[in-house]
Amino acid sequence: MAGILFIISAPSGSGKSTLVSEVRKQLSGIEFSVSWTTRPPRGSEQHGREYNFTTREEFQRMCAAGEFLEYAEVFGNYYGTARRSLEEARAAGHDLLLDIDVQGAAQVRATMPEAVSIFVLPPNPKVLRTRLRNRSRAEGVVNEAELYRRLSEASREIENYRGYGYILVNDVLDKAVAQLEAIVQAERFYRNGEAIAYRASRVLEVAAACRQTNAQDRLRPVLEAFGILGSNSQQQLNFEEDPDDD
Ligand code: ADP
Ligand code: 5GP
Repeated sequence: MAGILFIISAPSGSGKSTLVSEVRKQLSGIEFSVSWTTRPPRGSEQHGREYNFTTREEFQRMCAAGEFLEYAEVFGNYYGTARRSLEEARAAGHDLLLDIDVQGAAQVRATMPEAVSIFVLPPNPKVLRTRLRNRSRAEGVVNEAELYRRLSEASREIENYRGYGYILVNDVLDKAVAQLEAIVQAERFYRNGEAIAYRASRVLEVAAACRQTNAQDRLRPVLEAFGILGSNSQQQLNFEEDPDDD
């Protein structure tokens, strides 16, 4: 049986990696594609686990050899998904999850419209800043320029939400994890007829509420806070942390 391809994108710091690692602990039969990147390892990241770290020269060679399903330049570094990840997951009949940016997601959707795409949003800019800062502190390096770069890209990335089938607002972690799990289970149910036992109707309900078309009420305040809807311009965005956030 061919596996399902899941694409997940989010502005950096929204909590996508956290959500994905929680869901992987709960669900079997889903593989995570380890991307290639030219960015240096961060914190405790290990080659082959979070990313395959490589040089720009090697990345360019792989590009020229057509080894990537998609690739993009993000925050000044290259990131790409090896075709091999997809081939191996397919051969094993497993689902595959790609954690990729909005440019890469658009490339994959263009060639594989059957892919299930999920966009994760932080509740507002202030929370996003706090999460990015906390992560940097936990990794022992706070690079203000890099932090600012990631924050200022957030609104531009969020503008792409319309291309995604599902929307998750990652406010309370447990709730967002349950929603992501429900999306995976619901898609397995719809596509493969996989049984989801007695919890079925609840799972389908949770997943349906996350469909972009049904998520407008939860989405509106987030879009307003990021200056995508309403009168907030990007220059006026409130990324300031409260003094008591520390
Ligand atoms: P991303 O992969 O989207 O860049 P991460 O998963 O690295 O983001 O999360 C950024 C930071 O936010 C991490 O320190 C993580 O522990 C924290 N975080 C993630 N989700 C939540 C949440 N729902 N509530 C509070 N903190 C969160
Ligand atoms: P980070 O440096 O925080 O790990 O990731 C930065 C951005 O690159 C995130 O938006 C992440 O989803 C994206 N990314 C990671 N791997 C890939 C990939 O293989 N392809 C593309 N297009 N983006 C990726």
